[in-house]
Amino acid sequence: MSVHKIEIPTPYPVGDVNAFVVKGDALTIFDVGPKTMEAYDALKWGVHAAGYQLQDIEQVVLTHHHPDHAGWVDAFPNAEIIGHEYNDKWLRHDEEFLNYHEQFYSERLYEHGVPREYIQASVHVRREMELVGERPLTQILHDGDEVPGHPGLKAIETLGHAQSHFIFWSERTNNVIGGDLLLDKITPNPLIEPPLDRMLGRTKSLLQYNDSLEILRQLPVNKMYTGHGADLENIPDLIKKRLERQQLQSKKVHELLGEEQLTAVQLTERLYPSIFQRQLGLTLSKTIGHLDYLEANDFVTAEKNEAGVYLFKRK
Ligand SMILES: [Zn+2]
Repeated sequence: MSVHKIEIPTPYPVGDVNAFVVKGDALTIFDVGPKTMEAYDALKWGVHAAGYQLQDIEQVVLTHHHPDHAGWVDAFPNAEIIGHEYNDKWLRHDEEFLNYHEQFYSERLYEHGVPREYIQASVHVRREMELVGERPLTQILHDGDEVPGHPGLKAIETLGHAQSHFIFWSERTNNVIGGDLLLDKITPNPLIEPPLDRMLGRTKSLLQYNDSLEILRQLPVNKMYTGHGADLENIPDLIKKRLERQQLQSKKVHELLGEEQLTAVQLTERLYPSIFQRQLGLTLSKTIGHLDYLEANDFVTAEKNEAGVYLFKRK
């Protein structure tokens, strides 16, 4: 497959996001940047540099629903919009789904120790939605589906960083369009997000993310085109390093816990003293990820107190 990379600026600390124009039987762009004017210009010039106009693009395929990836679905008037079912709910800006999100976050923040009076100010779902596009999907992909117009290119569900995440692996070339599953310089945050199936309760995002890394590790991969930063080779080595670092951080959480009984918020405050207030959602997701890992491996237990707040202690 011929792959043309476009680097698109974002207003987020992560910096640029990558989109890829791929010419197969269909002309497809994978990811489209956040819905800002700067990103629109970068997209337009990037598609032009690949030899096309925005209206030539036949398909937009999304690796996941986050605003830095799924913003400019609106910029391609003739394109089918393709991605995960979860992504569709975001693109529809569905009021009921947004309410579900807000309620889910409020409950999770409360049970992990955020005082009631701070909860409302800490839930930013609607603000995040502003840079997400507004065209719903025209086609939903499921795990194992082939991307239309690209024979042998398989969508592989790889949840953890997002509840809508796919990588796209070519069984012909062993190249992968990897979204944010594995990045060159950054460790993707195992964000806590409400599950599509509301009966399931909170997903354990870090454990889910590690399962997704294992799926990737078992694939033969020549080159991985990533959502941020450089392309990757040598995937198993990188995964090994990342898992080692993750375990060290989990160990640090275990040490910080000492002999005390603490909430996830108290631990987050100790782990990330300088940024936890500004970036509560992101840092709390990380701490909860480590706690899930420690609990799954029998190092800590979690118990709710009378107020319904989880206290963690060493086992
Ligand atoms: Zn991203």
